[in-house]
Amino acid sequence: MRWVDRAPAPSGVVHYAKMYTHLWVQYFQQRGSNPSQHNYWTVFAADLRECFNDKCGYCEQRFEPVGELQSSVDHFRPRSRFPRLVYDWDNWVSSCQRCNFAKADQWPDTGYVDPCAVDLLDQPEEHFDYVPLTGEIVPKSGLTHNARHRAQSTIDDIGLNETRLRETRFRLIGSFVQDLLLATPGADRFAVVSRYQEPSEPHVGVVKMFTNQLRQAGRI
Ligand SMILES: [Zn+2]
Repeated sequence: MRWVDRAPAPSGVVHYAKMYTHLWVQYFQQRGSNPSQHNYWTVFAADLRECFNDKCGYCEQRFEPVGELQSSVDHFRPRSRFPRLVYDWDNWVSSCQRCNFAKADQWPDTGYVDPCAVDLLDQPEEHFDYVPLTGEIVPKSGLTHNARHRAQSTIDDIGLNETRLRETRFRLIGSFVQDLLLATPGADRFAVVSRYQEPSEPHVGVVKMFTNQLRQAGRI
């Protein structure tokens, strides 16, 4: 997971918010019928997807046209619990179907780690570390109780350490290390780091975490 600049809301969002938010609020307060046909956030899916570099905001896999890696608009704070935010651009995360379904209506006491958090301390880079031997993402050491719970809930509930994801990250970091070792120290290594940290690359957040760990250990 890595921080994403969601950019300002497209101008049309306000219109939909004014027209349809109340229907969703009424529905979740059990005062109205299901407004599921008024799911116009899908109108903005492409704008959102562009901000997220065509990757899932949680698992960082590239979207695919069909299957569980199809893109969707996730309501970061779930609709059922925060119906007033149903048309809030700042509450939308471009997410694959897998992560969206896994997260579902859950919302732990501490919330989840927001890929677009504005406050530096709330951002993914302040919550997660990477374990090179296993490919796992883990909460950073030294976090406050709440931040640790937020990081662990994000990992567990969204399934960020699912076998396939762990293996993909493990292989990616393996080739990153190999390319680093083959490059001569200095400009060449810098070029390798830059290439793997291109915003459009999958799992760039993990590469960044690992690069920071290498830097802190004085290895690069
Ligand atoms: Zn995902």
